[in-house]
Amino acid sequence: MKNIYHSDIYKFEEPVNSYWEDTTKETFNLDKLTKDLKSDVVVIGAGYTGLLCAINLIENYNLDVILLEAGKVGWGASSRNGGFCSFPPIKISFKKLQKIYGKEETKKFFKNSIEGSNYTKEIISNYNINCDVTGECNYILAHHPNKFKQIKEQAETYKKEFGIDTNIYSKQEFDKIGHSGTEQFGALSYKPGFAINPLKFVNGIARYALSKKLKIFEHTLVNKIDKIDNSYDVKTKEGSVKTKKIVVATNGFYQEGLVPQMNSRILPVISNIIVTRKLTKDEIDLHNFKTFSPIANTKNLLYYYRKLPDNRILFGTRGDFIGSDQSNLNRSKIMEKFLKNIFPNWSNISIEYNWRGLIAMSQKLTPSIGKIENEEIYYGFGYHGVGVSTAPWTGKQLSKLVFSSNSKDLDVSKIYKGLPKKFIFPKLRIFYFRLAVLFYNIKDKLNI
Ligand SMILES: Cc1cc2nc3c(=O)[nH]c(=O)nc-3n(C[C@H](O)[C@H](O)[C@H](O)COP(=O)(O)OP(=O)(O)OC[C@H]3O[C@@H](n4cnc5c(N)ncnc54)[C@H](O)[C@@H]3O)c2cc1C
Repeated sequence: MKNIYHSDIYKFEEPVNSYWEDTTKETFNLDKLTKDLKSDVVVIGAGYTGLLCAINLIENYNLDVILLEAGKVGWGASSRNGGFCSFPPIKISFKKLQKIYGKEETKKFFKNSIEGSNYTKEIISNYNINCDVTGECNYILAHHPNKFKQIKEQAETYKKEFGIDTNIYSKQEFDKIGHSGTEQFGALSYKPGFAINPLKFVNGIARYALSKKLKIFEHTLVNKIDKIDNSYDVKTKEGSVKTKKIVVATNGFYQEGLVPQMNSRILPVISNIIVTRKLTKDEIDLHNFKTFSPIANTKNLLYYYRKLPDNRILFGTRGDFIGSDQSNLNRSKIMEKFLKNIFPNWSNISIEYNWRGLIAMSQKLTPSIGKIENEEIYYGFGYHGVGVSTAPWTGKQLSKLVFSSNSKDLDVSKIYKGLPKKFIFPKLRIFYFRLAVLFYNIKDKLNI
């Protein structure tokens, strides 16, 4: 199997040095797979997608499931994201979606996206997970006066076309309820939306899964899948599982070579986060940072940030193009400048945490859910950095598909269905992405 980025980013054995890791000491210390087993289904990857798929397969269909995870439970993006429960999971405008798929499918897509957000909330409540939920909506912030008109139109369309509860705030209004700053020119709010501690969330899901007797093996990297007659042999360094069906739930950490039909279709993109030290009340007041709801701005290469329950600021952007520990450090310094440019009164506030991870994008610019033709291999990936609401819901949809083995039974918008196209000259994927970033950087500089 091949990695796209520097090997530092695939150190499955090491927990990520995130703020979240310091907020919870819960670990499961589950066995690694060291023997040959059998099961109805093997799920690869214990993030939100894999865990929720496995739980639903056990609870609703009484299937025997084994979950194999290369690191510890939730090691991937699910334990280290920003915790924004937002939607929709796309990098394409809703106008373009309407053009490609039609108005009805786009409407259904937004309905499904909202179901995803509500499903995440249901899991928190039904599985009794204490994951520090904050905020009561999502904000999209105009980072330039030019962008206020755009978010006003967006708020109207969201309301009219998709029935989404939206509100618009002028710069002065948002100064009072949100925050001030050099790039604050009004905001749009939409619901549902909130923020969580992602590690506590994924641990809570895993705890629930274990209570339902899901067999999870940690530190068990799947390195090969062999097909023998009508079943598969899922191989790891020290063991294997013979199974009839496989779910690939590896999202941005997918390694080329595992499933030939999935190769060259995923663009893993690095996303970086920095977290400040705790701010005092007086320091918070310097930017009147009132809200605990998640905020993303209107830049093409967007900034996302939120105030954490202990009055730190979490700030995220796209990451670097290399993936080494050094490039992560360099990127975090650049991000510190971005943060301090928009909040100049915090120029003396130090940064205490920085980390990164991989999200999955594709040429479809929307998520992908489905079954590989003529195989019993299923996939759910490509949430474009919006997985807190999309990945658990995708896991649930996948469980229905796995049970029925029939793609026609997947009752979700067409927009989700099927694999994205392969990249031409896939080795150049990161280069294409660099070009796109350059283009969007210029657009952002010109505020268009
Ligand atoms: C820095 C960052 C910030 C983000 N912020 C947000 C946010 O605020 N809101 C939001 O909605 N989304 C956010 N995301 C995206 C979100 O975290 C993901 O979309 C979501 O967690 C995907 O869940 P998943 O279960 O599909 O994949 P992951 O959680 O990435 O899990 C995949 C798992 O597969 C395992 N794996 C890979 N290969 C193998 C193998 N061969 N064998 C066994 N196991 C394997 C990996 O170890 C990993 O644990 C962010 C992502 C990052 C990286």
